[in-house]
Amino acid sequence: MFNLLLTFITAFHAQIKAPEKAISQYSLAVTVPEKKSLTEWCEEEHSDSYRALQKIVRYWRQQQFASQFLIYGKVSKNEEFKWEVVPQFECSSRVTRFTQQWITLWGASFPKKSNGRCDPDWIADEHEECELFSDDPFCNNSVIEKQWVYEGETIYILYNYRPIGIGNDKLHFLVVPKKHRPTFYQLSEDEYQEALVTVQKLCNYFFQARMIHEVHLFHKSGIDAGQTVPHWHMHVVLTTSDLQTCLGKLSILRNMLFTPSPLADGELAEKVTQYRNELIPALHY
Ligand SMILES: [Zn+2]
Repeated sequence: MFNLLLTFITAFHAQIKAPEKAISQYSLAVTVPEKKSLTEWCEEEHSDSYRALQKIVRYWRQQQFASQFLIYGKVSKNEEFKWEVVPQFECSSRVTRFTQQWITLWGASFPKKSNGRCDPDWIADEHEECELFSDDPFCNNSVIEKQWVYEGETIYILYNYRPIGIGNDKLHFLVVPKKHRPTFYQLSEDEYQEALVTVQKLCNYFFQARMIHEVHLFHKSGIDAGQTVPHWHMHVVLTTSDLQTCLGKLSILRNMLFTPSPLADGELAEKVTQYRNELIPALHY
């Protein structure tokens, strides 16, 4: 399918390469080589990485290789940060979709070397237009009102009503654009940049306020990739050392792919109030 064997591309600061340890043999990674931790990336580097990520997924779509995908990154003290783009293929039934999720989980648990491809000279097409509103939950004001913990210019941070993980904190947030953006293809560079700068602030806050072990960041585009709400959203899951020890990596990953049960209304309201009180002063700078 691919004529070009190039696996390494420079897009200003961000680089595209085939990762040594990958969820899928087709995965591609986007990194900023001089910066080990995502918390050190500047606005420009987020914009560059946005363009590199868009280039990969648009190239895959144009080559009719895959039009759906998972983008995953883990902020951890011991590992260099990378965004991993994992292609997800069209499924004819719920069974094949379920199988694809399990294969992704398997690959995340037992990573392998990737030989993913992207043409370095190929130029991605322009930003895509889409409907301004939809009837999905993130276009619904009453849902936003119940779950928002921080409001930016173009994005909200919501507390997820189906949080991953156990323990008291259940630190699981969603970053959603205010405007309706069905998938990552339609998300604008400005929205992405604000999303990531806010995620950085949120990480920095919790690194100081809690004993945070790792932060898992991921977003899915396409129903076969496991996207359940057709309005782009990035998951931000922070795990504490205790949580990590008792749950293990596999449980976190399993819950990433197979959604846990929702919180009761009262518990949700309590969490939202708590994190609103913490995050509004912490992120407003
Ligand atoms: Zn929407």
